[in-house]
Amino acid sequence: MDSVLNRASEAVNASPMMLQYLEIKKDYEDYILFYRLGDFFEMFFEDALIASKQLELTLTSRDCGDGKRAAMCGVPFHKSDLYIGKLVEKGYKVAVCEQTELPGTKKGLVRREIVRVVTPGTITDGSLLKDRQNNYLAAVCRANHGDGLAFADISTGQVSVTYLTGANRESRLLTELGTYAPREILCNLSQKATDEIFASFTERFDTMITAGKTGLFDEAQADLSVRETFGNMRAAFADDEAPAIAAVGALLAYIRETQMCAVTFARELVRYDDGQYMDIDLNTRRNLELTEAMRTKEKKGSLLWVLDRTETSMGARMLRDWVTKPLVHPAPILHRQAAVAAFFDNYLLREEIQTHLAHILDLERLTARAVYGTANAKDLRAIGQSLTEIPSIRALLMQSDCREIMAIRDKMDPLTELADLLNRALTDTPPLSVREGGMIREGYNADIDYLRRIKDDGSGWMQSIEEQEKELTGIKNLRVGFNKVFGYYIEITNSNLNMVPDRYIRKQTLTNCERFITQELKEMESTILGAQEKLCALEYQLFENLRLTVASNAGKIQETASLLAEIDAYISLASVAADNRYVRPEIDTDTCIDIKEGRHPVVEKFVTDSYFVPNDTLLDTDSRRVMLITGPNMAGKSTYMRQVALIALMAQIGSFVPAASARIGIVDKLFTRVGASDDLASGQSTFMLEMTEVAYILKNATRRSLIVYDEVGRGTSTYDGMSIARAVVEYTHSKKIGAKTLFATHYHEMTVLENELEGVINYHIAAKKRGDSITFLRKIVRGATDDSFGIEVSKLAGVPDSVVRRAHEILQDIEANGSQKPLPFPANDSVSALGIADEALLSETDESLREVSERIRATDINTLTPIEALNLIYTLKKLIGD
Ligand code: ADP
Repeated sequence: MDSVLNRASEAVNASPMMLQYLEIKKDYEDYILFYRLGDFFEMFFEDALIASKQLELTLTSRDCGDGKRAAMCGVPFHKSDLYIGKLVEKGYKVAVCEQTELPGTKKGLVRREIVRVVTPGTITDGSLLKDRQNNYLAAVCRANHGDGLAFADISTGQVSVTYLTGANRESRLLTELGTYAPREILCNLSQKATDEIFASFTERFDTMITAGKTGLFDEAQADLSVRETFGNMRAAFADDEAPAIAAVGALLAYIRETQMCAVTFARELVRYDDGQYMDIDLNTRRNLELTEAMRTKEKKGSLLWVLDRTETSMGARMLRDWVTKPLVHPAPILHRQAAVAAFFDNYLLREEIQTHLAHILDLERLTARAVYGTANAKDLRAIGQSLTEIPSIRALLMQSDCREIMAIRDKMDPLTELADLLNRALTDTPPLSVREGGMIREGYNADIDYLRRIKDDGSGWMQSIEEQEKELTGIKNLRVGFNKVFGYYIEITNSNLNMVPDRYIRKQTLTNCERFITQELKEMESTILGAQEKLCALEYQLFENLRLTVASNAGKIQETASLLAEIDAYISLASVAADNRYVRPEIDTDTCIDIKEGRHPVVEKFVTDSYFVPNDTLLDTDSRRVMLITGPNMAGKSTYMRQVALIALMAQIGSFVPAASARIGIVDKLFTRVGASDDLASGQSTFMLEMTEVAYILKNATRRSLIVYDEVGRGTSTYDGMSIARAVVEYTHSKKIGAKTLFATHYHEMTVLENELEGVINYHIAAKKRGDSITFLRKIVRGATDDSFGIEVSKLAGVPDSVVRRAHEILQDIEANGSQKPLPFPANDSVSALGIADEALLSETDESLREVSERIRATDINTLTPIEALNLIYTLKKLIGD
């Protein structure tokens, strides 16, 4: 058998087709190349190995010249989108190589070209995108003096850019990337350097990183394309901020490269700087479960899940953006709050607007597809239909006298002409294909209607010509006919030949008659025969014109889409607030946080069988700087601390908050250090991770920050842990930071700090003990508690009674004798109940259990029928007296 080659580099003396393949592949080395061969897209060599594994395709081979065979696998061309989607989802880039001339039109090999490439960060195909989430592409340009960092969602046309300098730019870089969670990052450094920088990021995010593409970052080229694309927005950058421009340039170049399109759809370059948004590091985002629950990684159980009632995808993306980037200046927060408040107060208005919003499709992405030339008539129709809703929405917005809402209404371009054009031009349900007609509505274009009529009504037309000619010539038995050889003709019997007019051209002579054609007939003939073809071509051309019209209006559509998104997001926040009894928080630049009857927005949704107990919070940077919280496990410490952080965060996105009242002095940075048990998978020791996070907080927190420490120091020995915990509180409390801090701890020894440091106040979460059991009151109260109720909690968790009893024994012993004394080994009967079904430990009274275990042992499961099994369980239950 011929040997099979797995590597393209091994193919020597390749066949002509394989040469063509290799030539194309050369420029797309880091892509999986889909190579069109007849009805299939084939992949070869390394690509075939990857694709066959990832897509579960059969690996075969194909002759590639020189008596060798190339490893190959393939997918049917009509299913290619599905497979491309899967590969991109798994983090690969795909280049699609099509036949760009019809097979058989000339001798030799058919011409093939790359017609599109798909990468995770540059997808525009709706089916491959999560519709309620942005798909970001990022570029990082690292230079000696600073990092340029740019983000784009190519479907919205907005590019954001920032320039990071200073000592902690590395951690700032990761924080920024964590905020946007891009699907793909381009970086100007080498692969090795890139891997190092982004190691902790790629562990958490499913992000493709492309390193070493220095060509994309060329500074001169970047400067040029930024000026070309954004005009005077270039002025936002100083001369020494070239890396920021280079990062934007790289994005533009890459978008052009992947979309294979001369235009880059970019309408706005937004420069932002440090301190424009609340600083929330990666861990904190995760711990606070802002957009996804920590355990499931699903939206359900996150803050966004509670807040998101948006109707449109654009609204959902905007709200997500707000949740991930809370504001830090009062004016824009109050601006959002005012709009939310106006909708909060008007139930009917928000309901009515929502019913219109529900009919609006993803204008942003549909428009982007029009710009990049991938839209079909369905997409344009969807744009037309969506735009139709705008006048009603604008009319409803008129009802509001809120300044912020009026401003939106005034800016919102109803785009009626465009909507009208699209609705007039396109059929209700256009086909997916743009080459086969059926897109243009009757009555829009006379030529189309005419061609359709001809196509559909060839015989009717023959009839009418026949009537017309009979009348003109007076020949009663004149007949119009058609045959494949001569096409259309007029047949005149020999007896009437004298009446034939001059314009008739003789075509054929038969025994009894002669056949003629006329100029009109000739034209009609070619019209009819070409009607279908012409129809498709003309429809395509009209569609293209419509697409270009949409593309040329892209900026306006995006602007309107973004205003609709804003309305959608406000209404969402307002209806969540109204349904959950939230209040409008007071916002100021003071450093105080004063919450009355605050609740955790997410946990309260899950506590359905009881009542979620609200709690107050009063923190400042002065005499109430540190809340030191003790209390049993499960009491609600974590919930309480997170609730304070979330209320502050919600207030700063412009939302109402779950409380009876709240006053929030703006927080610049939010930090949480919460149990790192989940991180075991990442390979670092839990304690090491914990300390890395603590170090990060201590280095970055300011007086305006809010810090949540949950059980710091737990990952090491008691004394070590306690010492670290205390030192951390001291440092956080000191002038070096002085931030508002919530600190939950198991170390009761820490509570002495209240007497030693001004501003540290002890709290605990109340719980009541009755006998062996415990009732959580969930109320935060002043003062420390020295009862950890650990044993009672373990009982609650279902630890066997005997273990709980034994734990009490040990505890009593320790309390009586001190912890240093070795404990006596317990008597057999108390160990017996450690829950281990060891026969030797069973006491006399456990005779029935012995019998049960013997019965089970004697059973042969392999021969047991289901009925017998049921009977056995029945007997066993009887034996244990159940
Ligand atoms: P801790 O951090 O003290 O171990 P958690 O904050 O994890 O405790 O709370 C444990 C559980 O108690 C939560 O999952 C929630 O179901 C419930 N809980 C917490 N706080 C409250 C509250 N204020 N009202 C009602 N249930 C609460």
